[in-house]
Amino acid sequence: MDNSNKSLQGKVALVTGAGHGMGRNHVMMLASRGATVIALDLDREAVAKTAKAIGGECLAVAADVTDIPALQAAIAEAAMKVGPIDILVNNAGIGGQGLAIEDIDETTFDAMVAVNMKGSFFATQAVIPAMKERRYGKVINISSNFAMGGAAFASHYAACKSALSGFVKSWARELAPWNIAVNAVAPGIIETEMTLNSIGKERIDGMATEIPMGRIGTLDDISWAVAWLASKETDFLTGQVLSPNGGATIVGI
Ligand code: NAD
Repeated sequence: MDNSNKSLQGKVALVTGAGHGMGRNHVMMLASRGATVIALDLDREAVAKTAKAIGGECLAVAADVTDIPALQAAIAEAAMKVGPIDILVNNAGIGGQGLAIEDIDETTFDAMVAVNMKGSFFATQAVIPAMKERRYGKVINISSNFAMGGAAFASHYAACKSALSGFVKSWARELAPWNIAVNAVAPGIIETEMTLNSIGKERIDGMATEIPMGRIGTLDDISWAVAWLASKETDFLTGQVLSPNGGATIVGI
C-alpha cells in the first residue's frame, strides 16, 4: 500500500462488510490515503480488529445491513461522531455459488436480496440527504463480474449483483445535480473467505488459467479501483461499472 498518496485527506468514508476480505482491505486502502473511515460489519469482533489495525482514523460499527432501522440509526450515529459521510462503499455481501435453480428456496433467495441488494439500497438512502446538502458525494457499489457474464449455479447472486450495477445507472442520473458520483466496481474472482467457502481453493486456482492475464486478482487490485472512484480524479465519472478482472469479461462498444 502506497502511504504517500493522501488523495482522500479530510474525507469521511463508510465501508460496509468491513470485517473480512475485500471490505477490510478497502478500509485500509482508504485510510492509507488519508480518509477517516467508518468500518461497518455484522461481525462485531472482526470489525473491531479492522479498526484496531488502522488506529485512530477508523470507527468500528457493528450492524446488520438487513436490519434497516438499526442500520440507518448506526450510520446516523457514526456520522455524528466523525462527520458527514463523503464516500460510501456498499461492499457487504454473501456468496451464492453452488446452487442450481431448483435448489434455491425462498429463504435462500430472500437472504440474498436482503444482504446484497436491499442492504446497499438502504445504506445509500441513509447517506444521501447529507451528501445532497453538501453537494458532494461518492457512492461505490460492489457488483461482480458475474453481473455481466452470468453465473451458473449462482443465479440469485448474479441477479442481485446486476441490480447493484442497475442502481448505479439510475442513482447516477438522479444524483448528478447534487454533484454526487455513483459508480460500481465489479471484481473478478478474488481469494477471500467467500470464495474459499463457496468454490474452494482448487477451483479458485484453476480459474487463473481461464483469465487472459493468467492470474486471479489481489485484494489491492480491487481496492485501488475503489480508492480511484473515491478520489477527485473521478469527479466527472458517474454511472459506470469498472471491472478489474484480468480480462475475464470484456464488454462495451
Ligand atoms: P467476505 O465474505 O470475505 O466478506 C464479506 C463481509 O460482509 C464479511 O465481513 C461479512 O461479515 C460481511 N457481511 C455479510 N453479511 C452482512 C450483513 N448482513 N451486514 C453487515 N455485514 C455483512 O467476502 P468478499 O469476497 O470480501 O466480498 C466482498 C464483496 O465483494 C461482496 O459484496 C461480494 O459479493 C463481492 N465480490 C466478491 C468476489 C470474490 O471473488 N471474492 C467477486 C466479485 C464480487
